Formats: sequence, C-alpha cells, structure tokens
Amino acid sequence: MNECNIIKDLLPLYIDDVLSDDSRELVEKHLKECTKCADELKKMKEKKINIPLNSDAQKREESIIKGLKKKLLNKKIIISVVSICVTIAVFIGIYSAMFTTHIPIKYDSAKIKVVEKNGDLYLSYDGNFYGSVEYTATDDYNYDHHAIYLYDVPYTKYIKPLKRSKKPELIFLEKKAIVDEVYYGDFEKMPEEVNEIKFFDKNLNKIYKNKNLDKSKKSNTPKG
Ligand SMILES: [Zn+2]
Repeated sequence: MNECNIIKDLLPLYIDDVLSDDSRELVEKHLKECTKCADELKKMKEKKINIPLNSDAQKREESIIKGLKKKLLNKKIIISVVSICVTIAVFIGIYSAMFTTHIPIKYDSAKIKVVEKNGDLYLSYDGNFYGSVEYTATDDYNYDHHAIYLYDVPYTKYIKPLKRSKKPELIFLEKKAIVDEVYYGDFEKMPEEVNEIKFFDKNLNKIYKNKNLDKSKKSNTPKG
C-alpha cells in the first residue's frame, strides 16, 4: 500500500518521462505487479489525452473570432458602400449646383439693350451668360410688361466659359406690337412667382418703353 502511494506520486513524472532510470524501473516493475496502479496510469494517460479535447473550446473560440472578423468585415463593407454613396451624392450635388445655381448678371447699360428686328423685340447682351429668366405681366390694356434677367452658373463662370459668337446674343422677348415696357432685373435670387415681381421695383431697370402704343382706349379682347 505504501509503495502504491509512492508510485502514484511518481506516475505523472513517469508519463512525462522525466524520471531517473532507477525510479522508472521501479515504477515499471510495480506496474507489472499491481493492477491498481496500472489502472491509475491508464486513467492518468487518458486524462492527459483528454486535454486536447479542449480543442472543442478552441474551435468555439476560433468560430467566435471568425464571426467577429466577419462582422467586422461586413461593417467595413457597409461603411465603404455608405461612404461611396455619400461621396457620389456629394459630387452629384456639387455638379448639379454647378449648373443650377444662378449667378445673376448685373445690369450694364453698355452691354444690355432691347433691339427691334422684323417687328419683334429682343434683349441683346454683349457677353457670356448661361441662361435667362423672364417674367411677363399683362396690364389693363393687354400690353405686356416684361422683366428679364440673365445669369451665369458656377460652371460657366469659373470653370469653362461658354463659347459664344462675337456678336451680342439675342434673346427673343415678344412681338413689339404688344409690349409696353421691358425691365432688366437685378435680382439677388430668382423670384419664384411672377407675382413676386413688383414692377417699378428698385431692382428693375427700365430698358425699353414702347412709345407707339395707343392706351387711350381699353382693349377687352384677349391677345392671341
Ligand atoms: Zn500499486
């Protein structure tokens, strides 16, 4: 019994193969004779082999890490996609603002005039512009009051000016016969409604007055 206890203490060292030759021989000799200790050795060896069974835990850990990595990757992908979308949206926004933001062209009597051509009235502008906005109001005599302004957009003003002919550009207004007055508007921003334009506003420069109109009698016939 006493020897069994000693052997039991030695068994772990025996398994690890760190016993001196003498001790090992002693253990081996005892194991051949004592089934109890032989069983103990077997159990101990099994236990030791069972340790790698922890690889279950290891596997679980690996899968958790894999899952985390996958989540992280998904997060990265989502962030990338979102940032690409945001970037595209910003560029579309900038691009459209480049063409939709009006930069009104100030009135310049040397460059902006109303000219008559074959019975029609045109606004003549000697310079670059991107577009024009025109408003018309009809007075009690069925004559037109035109308000117009020209504008540039950031793209044509700062990046690539439009190529225009050297002759002043003509913008059709209306048949001369039905126009009373034409104004050029110095607007800070585009008025949204015709009604917002107050004729004789200080921002309106009168650039044309039709002196041939007969306003002595009120016309009730709507103009065609
Ligand atoms: Zn024994």
